[in-house]
Amino acid sequence: MSNPPLPPATLRLMVDTAALADNWRALDRLSGTAAAGAAVKADCYGLGVDTCVPALRDAGCETFFVAHWSEVAGVIAPVPGHRIAVLHGVLSEADCAYARALGAVPVINSLEQAALWHRTGGGVCHLMVDTGINRLGIALAEVGDPSIAALDIDILMSHLASADERTAMNRMQAELLGEVADAIPHRRLSLANSAGIGLGEAFAFDLTRPGIALYGGVPREELAGHIRPVARVAARLLQCRQIAPGEGVGYNAVFIANTHMRIGTVSIGYADGFLRLRGPGNALSHEGRRLPILGKVSMDMVVIDLSAAPDLAAGDWVDVPWDIADAAQQNQLSPYEMLTVIGRRLRAG
Ligand SMILES: *Cc1c(COP(=O)(O)O)cnc(C)c1O
Repeated sequence: MSNPPLPPATLRLMVDTAALADNWRALDRLSGTAAAGAAVKADCYGLGVDTCVPALRDAGCETFFVAHWSEVAGVIAPVPGHRIAVLHGVLSEADCAYARALGAVPVINSLEQAALWHRTGGGVCHLMVDTGINRLGIALAEVGDPSIAALDIDILMSHLASADERTAMNRMQAELLGEVADAIPHRRLSLANSAGIGLGEAFAFDLTRPGIALYGGVPREELAGHIRPVARVAARLLQCRQIAPGEGVGYNAVFIANTHMRIGTVSIGYADGFLRLRGPGNALSHEGRRLPILGKVSMDMVVIDLSAAPDLAAGDWVDVPWDIADAAQQNQLSPYEMLTVIGRRLRAG
């Protein structure tokens, strides 16, 4: 017997795939003669690979980056394996076998990874060279190692440490990658993430790797005006009630009413990625009317002041601000975190 159909949800994430496709096309254009790929790791930064990857592919994207091998399966249905690059590379023979079985391509990050990939059969791979972020990648001193010369490298890449800042380090990293490119045979050269695209065409080389800007983030001023918001979140009122002066709201009664007021309990909480630091001082909204948050954010609920919207009742939808380009609503969250903390219950259906 199949399960009965789910009743209507009380929480929804709306992913504007037309905006996503437009953002990819804009970033591809801003990449000049280089092509834009797409970072689709972390389930497309929380917005869902099933929704986002086909839209990116249809827009023209040909190279997709994930971090883990476990992420390949979710991307491989709409995209052939050889177009999927796995940033964490190979740590074991099992990783190598999995890569070859699916045809996905590891990004080799160390001499050990290079030797492992070669020893288990070799084949096309990508190579990360560290030019200063000191995270993943072979060191510049290792560029001449025989294990690197043995590789069949498609994308030779590095990663910018401070592309969202105006710093001499960006130029330095680009120059170092250019020098490495002369020493290591490869097909494509790649450096820029989203912010790196904003630095200009000198940073684009053959392939750019935008992530956050695809999903609506604006990490540099140069990208503003080119990027559209992609994610929208709405949640339903579960219950409305009247409270009297002196009554508290939520855990530890951190909000106490000083007048009679009508309040509403909304079906979104920190388990959905609406983190507690987005509580008091922030607001939800309905048709432009501001509905301030009262008290602490709970795991599955948040309480709002309905003074500005007396017409709302249980079952009505309210908008949850999720514009990651708007610094004012982010508190201490980066736009990256605002997306990647989106919880499973909030995935687009
Ligand atoms: C995540 C990631 C990107 C994308 O970065 P954004 O800042 O989201 O554009 C590009 N390259 C590498 C190596 C990454 O890990």
